[in-house]
Amino acid sequence: MSTATTVPRPSYLDALEPVLTGIIAPAAGEIDRTAAYPQAALDALAQAGLLGLVSAKEVGGLGEGIRAATLVVEQIARHCASTALVVCMHYAAAAVIEAHGPRAVREAIAEGRAVTTLAFSEAGSRSHFWAPVSTATASGIWLVPANAEGLRVTAPFDGLGLRGNYSSPVTADGVIVSQDAMLGEDGKGFDIMMTIVLPYFQFMSAGCCLGMMEAATTKAAAHVGGTKLEHIGQSLADLPTVRAYVARMRIKTDMVRALLLDGLDALENGREDAMLRVLEVKAAAGEASTEVTDLAMRVSGGAAFRKEVGVERHFRDARAATVMAPTTDALYDFIGKAACGLPLFG
Ligand SMILES: Cc1cc2nc3c(=O)[nH]c(=O)nc-3n(C[C@H](O)[C@H](O)[C@H](O)COP(=O)(O)OP(=O)(O)OC[C@H]3O[C@@H](n4cnc5c(N)ncnc54)[C@H](O)[C@@H]3O)c2cc1C
Repeated sequence: MSTATTVPRPSYLDALEPVLTGIIAPAAGEIDRTAAYPQAALDALAQAGLLGLVSAKEVGGLGEGIRAATLVVEQIARHCASTALVVCMHYAAAAVIEAHGPRAVREAIAEGRAVTTLAFSEAGSRSHFWAPVSTATASGIWLVPANAEGLRVTAPFDGLGLRGNYSSPVTADGVIVSQDAMLGEDGKGFDIMMTIVLPYFQFMSAGCCLGMMEAATTKAAAHVGGTKLEHIGQSLADLPTVRAYVARMRIKTDMVRALLLDGLDALENGREDAMLRVLEVKAAAGEASTEVTDLAMRVSGGAAFRKEVGVERHFRDARAATVMAPTTDALYDFIGKAACGLPLFG
């Protein structure tokens, strides 16, 4: 059965292929086991020009946007969701710097010399990413170099899943950045968040979920098709119950892909429902990937529990999307407000 996307295969996915098969897929197990940062993958992506995917051609990038970033993240997530999340955050921050950052940093990103990320969620306001509580400015977005004096990573990331991503709490005690490190005008941070960060992150996060769902569905289907109940001469796939679960996994995965592609279409064509799709796509993908990877564990039985089928990692990794800001429950609240004609914030 074909699960191909409706868009013709773009050249950036061709450039990604050798990085996937040569570096990301072989390193995936080790990254999950040791929680190591996927440095080799980032080096290879830089080499392939893919860290500059969303950078403008005038600074040496590939000049692509949200669709490309989403599809690349999805492909990477089929093999290693940790690497996919690191790349997702890089593209989200790169898009902001592309719109509001200095040319030298834009060139460094385009040429693969700089990896970026966003520090949005704060200990004080937790998953309410729209409510900054740190000082310096109440609403600014700042370009802070990783080696800035006073910047400290408090503890390494040690999570249930996405173990190779380095999203650790960062403290900034008296960090001084120059005035021109401010991304966008003073007081416009919220607008940048809504117009750049939110659409990029929502779609890429959904792409990450989709990649995991696709991989889990494929692996579980292969397992049940190839695993025999010798005493009755049948495979697990001969059991209608098991087949029905696989069908549910297939349907949910395809539903998310359809919503994601429709959302990209809405965004690219300035459709009226574009913002609704932006909100919906991560909520739908996050919940569906939790369900699909749970079903993958169920139909693959003890073999999956013993990590023989390769779906257990997807099951753990998929758990993050529902609690990563904007969390599913916060999104339900926003979507409910939009559907009821209420203002999103306030
Ligand atoms: C793997 C991973 C990577 C991350 N990477 C980054 C990163 O790169 N940059 C960054 O800035 N942050 C990052 N985060 C942080 C993330 O975005 C969230 O802020 C954080 O996970 C939320 O956890 P919390 O304990 O603060 O949640 P809390 O805010 O304490 O939420 C607890 C529960 O309350 C619910 N809740 C809270 N508010 C509402 C509401 N208004 N309506 C309904 N329900 C609500 C939530 O949905 C959740 O179920 C990452 C988190 C993870 C797990």
